[in-house]
Amino acid sequence: MKKLLTKLAFAAGSFAMLTTAQAADVKRAITKVAGDVYRFQNNFNYSLVTITDDGVVVVDPINAEAATWLKANLNQITDKSITHLIYSHSHGGHASGGAALGAANVIAQKNAREAIDGVKPTMRFDEAKTMEIGGKTFEMTYLGAGHGDDLIAVIVRPENVGFITDVAAPKRLPFKTMPSSSVDAWIDQVKKVQTLDFEHFAPAHGNIGVKADTDDVLKYMTTLRAEVLAGLKAGKSVEDLQASITMDEYKDWAQYEVWRPLNVQGMAEYLVKAGKVK
Ligand SMILES: [Zn+2]
Repeated sequence: MKKLLTKLAFAAGSFAMLTTAQAADVKRAITKVAGDVYRFQNNFNYSLVTITDDGVVVVDPINAEAATWLKANLNQITDKSITHLIYSHSHGGHASGGAALGAANVIAQKNAREAIDGVKPTMRFDEAKTMEIGGKTFEMTYLGAGHGDDLIAVIVRPENVGFITDVAAPKRLPFKTMPSSSVDAWIDQVKKVQTLDFEHFAPAHGNIGVKADTDDVLKYMTTLRAEVLAGLKAGKSVEDLQASITMDEYKDWAQYEVWRPLNVQGMAEYLVKAGKVK
């Protein structure tokens, strides 16, 4: 990047070009999902932004720089200010920097830590919570322990947009080795998402899809689990399994090339650790 900046600075001979190049370093945008519901992109992370009659509801600040940018650029879509911040869960890459949004109402699941990067939730819930805000309905559902222990799904109506973080994304492999999670509990979280009623699948990572994409994610994970388990029981090494479990059906999914071997490795490590291989 430094090389590129230097090159650009020489080529353009202007400071303006340089600042443009620096700004392009982080990809940020606010794009419509449906109706009054938008996604805010900060590189590979997305949050959800909904305009209501009473103000703007944001799910996940991402980080301080992202949240500051979002607040400053909200005028692209509305002149209303942010009234509510909902945390999908308290993992740093999604939940940092919330203070920059200045929301008076902050909602998180019961298990979230007392303050999330210095922001104290003003309301917590256990299994489920529905809020009517400025003509929109926000249905929040605890997905159970698995990927974290405070992860929720947020569905916005009447647009029927489901904001799902980290446990599933349309046509995209699970993250790397599926770290610091019980994979079976993670699968249960995907099953919980399946029980919810929504149309547009807005993930925190990757492209927008539809509810039915959840079925494919579940199928990917259960197929991977079955194949890795069978391979381990047959005495195969992780390297053997990485070579043989090709999951061809998912070749067109995002991150297939890079994360498939890591998925196999993570699944194998989980199954051994969980005592599933006898
Ligand atoms: Zn997470």
